[in-house]
Amino acid sequence: MLNITGIAASSGVAIAPAFKLEHPDFTVTKREVADSAAELARLEDALTKSRQELESIKERTLQELGEKKAEIFASHLLILDDPELLTPVQDKIANEKVCAEFALNETAQEFISMFENMKSAYLQERAADMRDVTKRVLIHLLGLSYVNPAEISKEVIVVAEDLTPSDTAQLNRKYVKGFTTNIGGRTSHSAIMARSLEIPAVVGTKDVLEQVKDGDLIIVDGLEGTVIINPDAETVKQYEAKRDAHLRQIKEWRLLREEPTTSKDGVHVELAGNIGTPNDVDGVNDNGGEAVGLYRTEFLYMGRTEMPNEEVQFNAYKTVLERMEGKPVVVRTLDIGGDKELPYLDMPKEMNPFLGFRAVRLCLDRTDIFSTQLRALLRASVYGNLRIMFPMIATLDEFRQAKALLMEEKAKLIAEGIEVSDNIQIGIMVEIPATAVLADQFAKEVDFFSIGTNDLIQYTMAADRMNERVSYLYQPYNPSILRLVKMVIDAAHKEGRWAGMCGEMAGDTTAIPLLLGLGLDEFSMSATSILPARSLISKLSKAEMEELAAQALQKSTAQEVVELVRAIKL
Ligand code: PEP
Ligand code: MG
Repeated sequence: MLNITGIAASSGVAIAPAFKLEHPDFTVTKREVADSAAELARLEDALTKSRQELESIKERTLQELGEKKAEIFASHLLILDDPELLTPVQDKIANEKVCAEFALNETAQEFISMFENMKSAYLQERAADMRDVTKRVLIHLLGLSYVNPAEISKEVIVVAEDLTPSDTAQLNRKYVKGFTTNIGGRTSHSAIMARSLEIPAVVGTKDVLEQVKDGDLIIVDGLEGTVIINPDAETVKQYEAKRDAHLRQIKEWRLLREEPTTSKDGVHVELAGNIGTPNDVDGVNDNGGEAVGLYRTEFLYMGRTEMPNEEVQFNAYKTVLERMEGKPVVVRTLDIGGDKELPYLDMPKEMNPFLGFRAVRLCLDRTDIFSTQLRALLRASVYGNLRIMFPMIATLDEFRQAKALLMEEKAKLIAEGIEVSDNIQIGIMVEIPATAVLADQFAKEVDFFSIGTNDLIQYTMAADRMNERVSYLYQPYNPSILRLVKMVIDAAHKEGRWAGMCGEMAGDTTAIPLLLGLGLDEFSMSATSILPARSLISKLSKAEMEELAAQALQKSTAQEVVELVRAIKL
């Protein structure tokens, strides 16, 4: 039995055998071949193996998940046999004498771009299918060993160096009971995705991947941040009890689903959910969210080979707005850079990506990318209650430029006779200390603030949010952070604006009493944190929390603030 400590990233307890997920390199290089007949045979062999795999996955999916899900694999089989794809690949090998992986990859990419540019959502989805099928055949051609996380079909705990957000999005909750990684922090994007999938997770363990063997029984305790490898029977029993108690607590919270969020002394605040994909909206609604407080649109740009076009984006935004049925939806414009890369953007490597060319900085430079997103958003605006938010704003000039571009696109759409809502609030994320300090000036021009503490804390403390070695400096309760938060909220209220928070701190039960006391209007968090937060707020008096917050602001260390909060009698 071995205990490893990491960072609790998503609550709950999972007990299952380990499944090590390691990433292959799909890079394809162009190689000339002398014997094209042999190359064609190699292609045929890879196709046959892929067919056999798909047949058995289809069968298993049919048994376990039903006909509808199995259809996906039936359509993959059709692609594998489609002469429209295969003939040009075979021709390329025969005529241009290139290797099979190059011929396949190049042809498939042409189809993928073509599908992505189609108007119909159905054909756009075909692009994703084509991408999956191509990867499957490439695995055989390149001799890679890899299991797509979406295909895991027995109960496991995934163990990895790190998980990309798109890996995390593909995990099937039915089988993946939990995950644990070597690197990452509570606010790394895979951890955020784990919370939206409601899968227990422990990240930042440094070496769990090296310590564990495939099939070892492991426990992931996402409440405490521990991983236990090969536990003895007594420990398993103890953790089963802990898991069951947590599940009972969740059931109790569910009773609050339809209730408003009100403090003990009757003050209403808004509890919203953070989402990364349109599918996450169900989680927000299931957990009684009153709004979407942060839609991280960058996930729409990830896991593909080129920019999502206006139609792809329009469909996604429209879906979210419609599913929220008129409740507010704060959509954040593209925040790429930092720990979120887009391989097809081909950006130069930076020394300090979190301090570099990211988010609105990139969008103001690549106005082609930005305008496409703004157009899609404006077109979708008539389907619900849209609010647009710019990330990583450091200066008023940046905000003014971003807003001017938005207005320009709006005017163009109206001139084209396309309807746009007249009622779109435009706000900014406060993630940079300079913006928090100058919030009184920003408040005169923006409709709202949403405090992004994940970044605000890392920039204020100069401690990389991804680096577990400096995680001791990542202090949400440090009075310096609380003072910045207060400045932002007070500045908003002075100008009659609202202030929300969409960093992870908003759903943190130690921070919530302080934030309520500081006057935060909207708390946006992982869907699974909404009901525990509602339960907690209903037991707190806003007036008392105002006093508590005033005391916290005068403390000198984070520890003293924590002690103050712990002393609250509920
Ligand atoms: C934040 O910085 O707090 C935030 C919500 O944005 P992200 O975590 O996506 O950087
Ligand atoms: Mg951020």
